[in-house]
Amino acid sequence: MTPSTDLNLPLFERAKRVIPGGVNSPVRAFRAVGGTPRFVKRAEGAYFWDANDQRYIDYIGSWGPMILGHGHPAVLEAVQKAALDGFSFGAPTEREIELAEEILGLMPSMDMVRLVSSGTEAGMSAIRLARGATGRSKLIKFEGCYHGHADALLVKAGSGLATFGTSTSAGVPPEVVQHTLVLEFNNIAQLEEAFAVHGRELACLMIEPIAGNMNFVRASVPFMKRCRELCTEYGALLILDEVMTGFRVALGSAQSVYAQSIPGFKPDITVLGKVIGGGMPLAAFGAPRAIMEHLAPLGGVYQAGTLSGNPVATACGLTTLREIRKPGFFEALSARTQSLVDGLRAAAAAEGVAFSADCQGGMFGFFLLPELPQNYAKVMTSDSPRFNRLFHGLLDRGVYIAPALYEAGFVSGAHTEADIAETVAAARAVFKELAA
Ligand code: PLP
Repeated sequence: MTPSTDLNLPLFERAKRVIPGGVNSPVRAFRAVGGTPRFVKRAEGAYFWDANDQRYIDYIGSWGPMILGHGHPAVLEAVQKAALDGFSFGAPTEREIELAEEILGLMPSMDMVRLVSSGTEAGMSAIRLARGATGRSKLIKFEGCYHGHADALLVKAGSGLATFGTSTSAGVPPEVVQHTLVLEFNNIAQLEEAFAVHGRELACLMIEPIAGNMNFVRASVPFMKRCRELCTEYGALLILDEVMTGFRVALGSAQSVYAQSIPGFKPDITVLGKVIGGGMPLAAFGAPRAIMEHLAPLGGVYQAGTLSGNPVATACGLTTLREIRKPGFFEALSARTQSLVDGLRAAAAAEGVAFSADCQGGMFGFFLLPELPQNYAKVMTSDSPRFNRLFHGLLDRGVYIAPALYEAGFVSGAHTEADIAETVAAARAVFKELAA
């Protein structure tokens, strides 16, 4: 495709005139990798088609929600039916109860759940709830974890443990982040030190259990265990941000994976998004009853939303959850993802390219590094020009992965072994170029 025939290009130019950077969420702009974003015309199953009617195998799946693939017939039917009954009422519906019951049935750490419209909103509300429930202000987050763009969470590490973080965004006053402490992921000694200094003032510790915003980095089992123990010891609440991992890495989400190694493991608050909306704007946060009863209208922690529990979004999310809990769904999804990861590893090895990869359920990540990194600083030692060549090499061959090396990838129930084989063949051809 030459620039003069690429129909994505004029769309991007037009978009840039009316939308900042031409996109409504920054990473879509391809700034990290260069080139022109693909403007999607339509999607079906594991594929989407761009403005040139070029087909791509989609490993982003709307950044996680599309676990069934695009246009799953049962979901389409439910959404169409719900839309006919009305788009939004601003009054309760039975479907909200059904979705809440469905989520709670799959996630025993929670007794109650509040539905909202985005992961950002859910994370921000979970922190307000933790602060309201504990009467404390401070919070811990980890470098490389993303919890949405709420002011108090757009923070990077300060110069040391005694100092709190500095904002990563213009427009966030220092006073707003003065209670946010940013620590290194998987660093137990630093975690213990932080609790020893600030433990009694901490409202919560928020963590992505498998950090998908630094590609794919698992919290080690000893680290997660220590997070749980220290929160309990100091009376801080453990918030698991499962916006990405929720119903994606296992039917019981990442918390069920950690509970296999840490007996009785449960977070205090869980934050959900992406898969629970099946591609519609829907997210949630939930906890045991005693914590959730701090929320308005029962308690003093205010939280509200015009479109919260939207009837079309809940139809989409509910049907998605019912599909993924059908027997065999997760086994097949996990096997397919594993086969992608194994195939990529073998292709890189065959071409002599340093490569490491990991996956859980339908989520995967890979690095052009010989070993899996354990924290953000290590992730950032990846060679980004080489990643960019890999990205564009795959894109040219009809395979769409995230346009930044610090993002995870997603396989859906619609991806077939043939899609995986096509992807691995494309990757091998690009690895050959990288090795040359
Ligand atoms: N938390 C995590 C772990 C995420 O990956 C994201 C988004 O990618 C968010 C929160 C924010 O969700 P949203 O983009 O729906 O606001």
